[in-house]
Amino acid sequence: MTRMTQEATRSLAGAASSSAGLQMAARLAAPIAGWTTEADVIVIGSGIAGLTAALELRTRVPRVLLVTKTVLASGSTVWAQGGIAAALDPSDSPAAHLADTLTAGGGLCDPRAVEVLVTEGPARVRELVTRGTMFDRDASGGLALTREGGHHADRIVHAGGDATGAEVSRALVAQLEAVRADPGIEVIEHALVIDVLTAAPGPDGRPGPACGVTLHVIGAGSRDGVGAALGRAVVFATGGIGQVYRSSTNPAQATGDGIAAALRAGATIGDVEFVQFHPTVLWLGSGVRGQLTLVSEAVRGEGALLLDTDGVRFMPDVHPMAELAPRDVVAHAMVRRMAQTGADHVLLDARHLGADFLRARFPTIYERLLEHRIDLTTDLVPVAPAQHYHSGGIVTDLSGRSTLRGLYAAGEVACTGVHGANRLASNSLLEGMVFAHRAARDIASRVAAGELPQRDPVDRPGPGALVAAAARSRIQRAASNGPGVIRSADGLIQAAADLAEVRTDAHHAAGVVAAPQTGEWETTNVHQVATLLTQAALRRTESRGGHFRSDYPAADDAWRLRLTATLAPDATLELGPTPLD
Ligand SMILES: Cc1cc2nc3c(=O)[nH]c(=O)nc-3n(C[C@H](O)[C@H](O)[C@H](O)COP(=O)(O)OP(=O)(O)OC[C@H]3O[C@@H](n4cnc5c(N)ncnc54)[C@H](O)[C@@H]3O)c2cc1C
Repeated sequence: MTRMTQEATRSLAGAASSSAGLQMAARLAAPIAGWTTEADVIVIGSGIAGLTAALELRTRVPRVLLVTKTVLASGSTVWAQGGIAAALDPSDSPAAHLADTLTAGGGLCDPRAVEVLVTEGPARVRELVTRGTMFDRDASGGLALTREGGHHADRIVHAGGDATGAEVSRALVAQLEAVRADPGIEVIEHALVIDVLTAAPGPDGRPGPACGVTLHVIGAGSRDGVGAALGRAVVFATGGIGQVYRSSTNPAQATGDGIAAALRAGATIGDVEFVQFHPTVLWLGSGVRGQLTLVSEAVRGEGALLLDTDGVRFMPDVHPMAELAPRDVVAHAMVRRMAQTGADHVLLDARHLGADFLRARFPTIYERLLEHRIDLTTDLVPVAPAQHYHSGGIVTDLSGRSTLRGLYAAGEVACTGVHGANRLASNSLLEGMVFAHRAARDIASRVAAGELPQRDPVDRPGPGALVAAAARSRIQRAASNGPGVIRSADGLIQAAADLAEVRTDAHHAAGVVAAPQTGEWETTNVHQVATLLTQAALRRTESRGGHFRSDYPAADDAWRLRLTATLAPDATLELGPTPLD
């Protein structure tokens, strides 16, 4: 360990029992905006949450601007396989869906948010059908419903067998394309939001309301380079944090931009330590990085089994629901079994389900595995847990309002309280729709009531941060070894020290390694999220849901609370407990 690492380790060990006390930049280093545009509402992101919000807002406020980092069909939504959970069968009920969601959440869900999710969910799914989504049908023409881990009823609608997200995205993008020429909506693709613009601070020195964003557009003419988009309200629908880790099921865009930018702007972030690691991600060797192929939980839902590398089935001894136990239970059991057998993967056996059935039910997974010369119908599939979903995020109320006036969040970037310590399978697409819909309605009524005036942005003080893109793999290694599947004080303190050694000063990055640009902005966000995640995981000295500490392996009632983080006016990280209502 270097001297700097030892010092950082000592100070962070102290921080574990007090306030984190870390300085984090309140903005990214970026050139001054060279152009400006205005709208009533700015929606960031075009996954299920962003598209739902934009389509809903379009008819309710005069001008909507939708910006997205790459193309409209992007984000995790496109990759979703299993489906969307909703109590649609007469034998099922929102109350039963609520009970399963609360169980998965490990005592930390906000029951009011879950109530909203399960009661409004069925209507949102039907709306998707009217918007043109072609869900799979059963023999009688009704929606085909299947089951996934943690659900006690068949309540998952799916499309194209295992291509639900692609179909949902196709339908919503088609709806948006149909109105794209409408003067009430503007879409800017290849536009990366850098920071939230905020109005003059209040007497407490904290940033004033959100009044727009700075963004970098790879465009042409007057909309090229760094600009500013001003609005009465900003909706973050920027998705997850997968690229914080070495291996994840999330696409390249999932760099935690929304959480990092909201934190910098003064919003409260919560439940950040709860990360879902999907148990069955195709294992292709320890050196493989980036987005990995997911083998959906629905494969286990249809009866596939987990075997260790000696061919022994191990889940029935771990949990009454065996392979369909909650994801964290399955992932931890796999890691423990891998340690016992000395292997770095286990095996998924779907062979007994029949070749015709597997090819028809899971055509996408079947084809993706074949690309790696694995035949789902005849071969055992090597799998290991990888980062999959982030339960925490920007804290919002039931209308999607964050703690920063004018800033809303919906979808995976938000912390609505629906997931608590762990997400129930197939509840995330549903959450994105339900809460984006609510946020849109809330914004529209506040705009109509004149409650969201357009304000002027002011500069936030302090130096802008910039981490060299080349540091990304080092940050990912720290995150994977620290706040990974199984955590401990030693691993987390080391990760915090490693992260503290990463240079974040723009001068260093600009002068020595890089200039302000996409790779650097994203990597700075990855670094800030990894830092926050590590601090929160270090602070929570218990195990619950997606947070497992080998040094505190049991849940502790004293920890039935939410850890929240904000930046103080001097940009110090304030991390502390917030009681559940
Ligand atoms: C492989 C896989 C399978 C899954 N299967 C399921 C499933 O079966 N059921 C289920 O419910 N959930 C599933 N999930 C989770 C679910 O897909 C996501 O939680 C959900 O799609 C998130 O939707 P979203 O709209 O919040 O974000 P996303 O769909 O991730 O979209 C985020 C959008 O924000 C944009 N963006 C990000 N940063 C910026 C920025 N700085 N500036 C501008 N734009 C930005 C992105 O480009 C993208 O358009 C799965 C996830 C994965 C990865």
